[in-house]
Amino acid sequence: MTRTPLVAANWKMHKTAGEAEAFVAALLPRLSSAGADVALCPPFTALAAVVDSARGSALQVLAQNVHEAEQGAYTGEVSIPMLADLGVQGAIVGHSERRQYFCESDRALQLKVPALLAAGLLPLLCVGETEEEREAHDTERKLRHQVQEALAGVNDDRLADVAIAYEPIWAIGTGKVATPDQAQEAIAFIRALVGGRDAGAGERVRILYGGSVSPDNAAELLALPDVDGALVGGASLDAASFAAIVASLPG
Ligand code: PEP
Repeated sequence: MTRTPLVAANWKMHKTAGEAEAFVAALLPRLSSAGADVALCPPFTALAAVVDSARGSALQVLAQNVHEAEQGAYTGEVSIPMLADLGVQGAIVGHSERRQYFCESDRALQLKVPALLAAGLLPLLCVGETEEEREAHDTERKLRHQVQEALAGVNDDRLADVAIAYEPIWAIGTGKVATPDQAQEAIAFIRALVGGRDAGAGERVRILYGGSVSPDNAAELLALPDVDGALVGGASLDAASFAAIVASLPG
């Protein structure tokens, strides 16, 4: 089974629209990613600028969050139709920072993931355990819970249209990257969970690794059999560094 790898840049709360345009101008000539999907996830305020700068290229643009309702009295939120109208192709959902600081719940994810799919957008669902959970040998229980809950509203025939990022929370922004064995084991476990719902979907669903990916460690992680790309935070803020990570994908 050949899965198209995806390398996505999660800029978090970094870059103005002007800085984002400059990044795209610096990135595009550095990309030679035939056979892979490359996505930028800028803050809402830079989405339009990145969509415009990326026009005519294969670069994809995803938001970092989205609200599940089509419209309504949700001050400060952004809807899926608003993203689609801009030309945005998907959204990260369930990032640990959103779960931790903004109370993103499994219940909201149960609505967000199918709503994105119904609109033809890519949900990039993040899951992962804390350091305490790993030390307590609770990683699989946590992953099972998060994956089952977030995908509960997705029909089996759409499961493979979701992309999942395994992001151990202790590895995010810490420089403490998961070992290849830890990444492979957790991602194979997530694949088996999806496969438990639908065997074909388990084979086809793309599962990325995220957590302190850098140009120095990317090749080893991206070569793992179940790892279909990377969600990159800090190392994606510099175009040369992000391009080097994309270039680390196995030929
Ligand atoms: C992330 O925020 O999704 C992430 C993986 O961050 P970092 O690469 O900085 O650990």
